[in-house]
Amino acid sequence: MRHEVNPAQEEENGLKLAKRLTRLGTETAFDVLVKAKALEAAGKEIIHLEIGEPDFPTPINVIRAATEALQSGYTHYCAPAGLQELRESLASEVSHTRGVQISSDWIVVTPGAKPIMFYLILALVEEGDEVIYPNPGFPIYESMINFVGGTPIALPLREEYQFRFDVKDLIARVTARTKLIIINSPQNPTGGLLTRSDIEAIAEIAIQRDITVLSDEIYSRIIYEGSHTSIASLPGMLERTVILDGFSKTYAMTGWRLGFGVLPPFLHGHISKLVTNSVSCTAPFAQRAGLEALANTRSDVSSMVDEFRRRRDFVVQKLNDIPGIRCLSPAGAFYVFPNIKSFGRQSSEFADYLLNEAGVAVLSGTSFGEYGEGYLRISYANSIENLDKAIHRIREATAGL
Ligand code: PLP
Repeated sequence: MRHEVNPAQEEENGLKLAKRLTRLGTETAFDVLVKAKALEAAGKEIIHLEIGEPDFPTPINVIRAATEALQSGYTHYCAPAGLQELRESLASEVSHTRGVQISSDWIVVTPGAKPIMFYLILALVEEGDEVIYPNPGFPIYESMINFVGGTPIALPLREEYQFRFDVKDLIARVTARTKLIIINSPQNPTGGLLTRSDIEAIAEIAIQRDITVLSDEIYSRIIYEGSHTSIASLPGMLERTVILDGFSKTYAMTGWRLGFGVLPPFLHGHISKLVTNSVSCTAPFAQRAGLEALANTRSDVSSMVDEFRRRRDFVVQKLNDIPGIRCLSPAGAFYVFPNIKSFGRQSSEFADYLLNEAGVAVLSGTSFGEYGEGYLRISYANSIENLDKAIHRIREATAGL
């Protein structure tokens, strides 16, 4: 039965709640998942292309490492910043892959990478401070900026630039109040990859204007063309960059909740203190599993990336064959962001239509901000058979539009 809301009751509850809650956004992928599950419960067969997680199992040696850790006593609290052995291993991995020199003192381990966003924005952004963030982009950036009373300044990512930004747009958005610039490459939702010259343009502004950069590098191991340049590796940037990364995507470990931040000294102690105040620490047996993932999964990761590449090529070609749809081939992550403007419908309406009529769950581009209008996000973390079936259904459902 539908729960009827009594307006008077709601107003009273509203008065009890902190005002900041009205500014908190969400991730609609989870809402679409709920809708899709309800349709499934009613007997409809749904193909899930909405959720951003690898469909591969976590490598077996990683599972074994966690089991052994559980049996050998990694079942109690540990240091808020993480187990020392994992922090050391992460410091050497980050130094090697990003071309920087950092020690374990820079690492804070968290339950997933998302808390790093949360903590950093909480630690840096005061009311009225401006934060430049990618749009379309991961929705939690804008949500968190609003939540703490900051002003989100959308930096449009444009299809004509392979979903990178125009440097003129960036320059036009920087003011005396800009506190933080957020970048994400390869990117969710478009799969776009920033080039070295894009990163250099951001670094130049950040240094000139004394701005901190949050570099979300969660997809940096999932790249098909080109290479990843971490902004932290550019001269003068290490001390003003926070790298956010984690195990969810690279090692198919979304449910383990294991991520980390690389934090310059001016932030490290404060972010650790936020960990102490919120979650105390990250589950130590999950951290032991992370240690194994870093050491012994090279071939699992490379076969996962090869399989994603095969699916990307398949999906891009098949989508472009559908009249009215145009789809760029993304350089990284596991999403495509097809243009559906020719159908003349709003993206959210179009996504609902595909769910209800075709049984294909995808996300509206606007789930990632206003510049996502006219696009859909499709995750190709699903089997070729399901992708084929889904695209066939999309073709049929759009034929009459
Ligand atoms: N950053 C981006 C761009 C993401 O897409 C995600 C997950 O979807 C995250 C961060 C958070 O990942 P997790 O908290 O699972 O480590």
